[in-house]
Amino acid sequence: MDIALARHWVQAIAVAMDEHQDRLTQLDSAIGDADHGANMHRGFNAVLATQVSYRPDSVSQLLVKVGTTLISSVGGASGPLYGTAFRAAGKALPGTDPDPAELLAALRAGLDAVRELGAAAPGDKTMVDAFLPALDAFEEEVRAGGDLAAAAARAARAAEDGARATVPLQARKGRASYLGPRSIGHQDPGATSTALVFGALATAAAR
Ligand code: ADP
Ligand code: MG
Ligand code: MG
Repeated sequence: MDIALARHWVQAIAVAMDEHQDRLTQLDSAIGDADHGANMHRGFNAVLATQVSYRPDSVSQLLVKVGTTLISSVGGASGPLYGTAFRAAGKALPGTDPDPAELLAALRAGLDAVRELGAAAPGDKTMVDAFLPALDAFEEEVRAGGDLAAAAARAARAAEDGARATVPLQARKGRASYLGPRSIGHQDPGATSTALVFGALATAAAR
């Protein structure tokens, strides 16, 4: 991944959050407070705005900046969580253009940071339930010798499957957990937006 590809990734995320804003809002209105679409839309628009004049020296720096911008522009739980993920991923990268294995390690650092901050385990009906299977799929493809485009495509599919698999789960973290068993039967908004983040990576890597 080079800086141009990282920029395309961020732009594709912003496009996806725009296109899917209403869907994320609907999902969050069922088991939350109906702001996830607006939160993600606001956050990645702020990221786009900073990118215009920002000239990072590395993908590492760029991802740290994305994270910092998300933390400062999104009020909900998802802002600090995604922001921490991008910051941790950026900090874990070398100063040179990362290869797929280095990107994978950085994304793992991002997931670890989310889990440390939010204390969510797999199966708690959160973004972790899309993030973790995405990285496992990414890793399988990289181990099999696949390039970034192939790994990202598989990660995106796994994240979508993971997001769909949150439907029968009962939420144990975040606002949805206040609903107890009434959170069952709805797809988690954050897992859904995580699938969009990986879908955007696949789109950018396929260019
Ligand atoms: P808020 O819940 O503050 O309104 P959002 O609606 O933007 O924030 O984001 C909600 C999403 O954040 C949830 O669908 C879930 O995926 C994720 N989330 C909430 N709490 C946690 C947590 N502790 N760990 C991981 N993800 C979480
Ligand atoms: Mg919400
Ligand atoms: Mg909220």
